[in-house]
Amino acid sequence: MTKLSTNQDFIDLEDQVAAHNYSPLPVVVDHAEGIWVTDVEGNRYLDALSGYSALNFGHRHPALVQAAKDQLDRSTLTSRAFHNDQLGPFCAKLAGLVGKDMILPMNTGAEAVETALKIARKWGYLVKGVAPEQAEIIVMDGNFHGRTTTIISFSDDPEARDHYGPYTQGFVSVPYGDLAAIEAAIHDGTVAVLVEPIQGEQGVKIPKEGFLPGLRELCTERNVLMIADEIQAGLGRVGTTLACQYEGVEADLYTLGKALGGGIVPVSAVAADADVMNVITPGTHGSTFGGNPLAAAVGLAVCELLESGEHQGNAAALEGQFREALEALVGRGVEEVRVRGLWAGVDIDPELMSGKEACKQLMKKGVLAKDTHGSTIRLAPPLTITGEELRIVTDALAEVVTEARRG
Ligand SMILES: *Cc1c(COP(=O)(O)O)cnc(C)c1O
Repeated sequence: MTKLSTNQDFIDLEDQVAAHNYSPLPVVVDHAEGIWVTDVEGNRYLDALSGYSALNFGHRHPALVQAAKDQLDRSTLTSRAFHNDQLGPFCAKLAGLVGKDMILPMNTGAEAVETALKIARKWGYLVKGVAPEQAEIIVMDGNFHGRTTTIISFSDDPEARDHYGPYTQGFVSVPYGDLAAIEAAIHDGTVAVLVEPIQGEQGVKIPKEGFLPGLRELCTERNVLMIADEIQAGLGRVGTTLACQYEGVEADLYTLGKALGGGIVPVSAVAADADVMNVITPGTHGSTFGGNPLAAAVGLAVCELLESGEHQGNAAALEGQFREALEALVGRGVEEVRVRGLWAGVDIDPELMSGKEACKQLMKKGVLAKDTHGSTIRLAPPLTITGEELRIVTDALAEVVTEARRG
């Protein structure tokens, strides 16, 4: 093979041999630190996507890298056939952080969601007394919970769902944020409502104030579990440890992932109280890698970072600046913006350009971001960003839309 050196060299190779399940921006990352990434040609970019929130603490946070290095020198994998000395401390710390009794560790977000669905169904049969095979889970239109066959069975995104049937039964979808529709959908077989506190993939769609507290009340009243998928919204992104806490809501189950692995290893988890979690007994669920000591060591270090409140605080403190800068673009090439903490969905005027085109233009200005659907882009810089650095992101976007309007 000839030596690869330019971005294009690596892109061409990938195109030939890596499956085309993504359509990445034409930048090949060589190394990264904090909020900055550098490509193979030495160009530097501000990472305003943060691995869809998997890099909430930036690239290679020193405390997280140190925890991983220390653990690499001790043990990396034991399987759950044996105990390891990291799992207990990790679960204790995470449970305390999110206010639940127990943790079930997995690896990817989709696995955490699958696990929560299995726990909810089993709770339905064993605790609630739902008739065999009748358990139903209410989900929201526009949801994104991962890519497994069961999860895409209840997606309404044709790209994610088409040609993957036959689909898993037992789900019903209602409009996001519509309490009355949820109430109408609940029946004796309903075991859970699965909800993203904010729909990230949908373009940072924020439900009306009062929806989450209302859902909490409804679930309690009707003996239905509230499952909050905090995989993208949680762990500091919106200015609180969990996005549900922004409205003072406590779900029955939380799914966590992405940032839980500190951008180093895949770590996901379900958190729940003992009365729910204890429907899981030895042999009834598992994962070869879930709870491995390397993952647990990194996860524990992530929890310690979050315990200080510093990153949540920074996200909360910068929300106003972020919103103000983005709202100033509304009517000037931007149709609508939705901001919470350090998370923003920006709807570019579709007549002006697509979200993908906007991201390409942002990249030319040294800012990496990702489009979601159509003309919407998502901004989610690391929570370690400063106000001055955040200005780089919003100024770049202002320039992109201004230049596009000039034609
Ligand atoms: C990313 C994501 C998932 C899936 O996580 P993976 O690690 O990609 O499997 C699930 N739910 C939400 C809300 C997500 O953002």
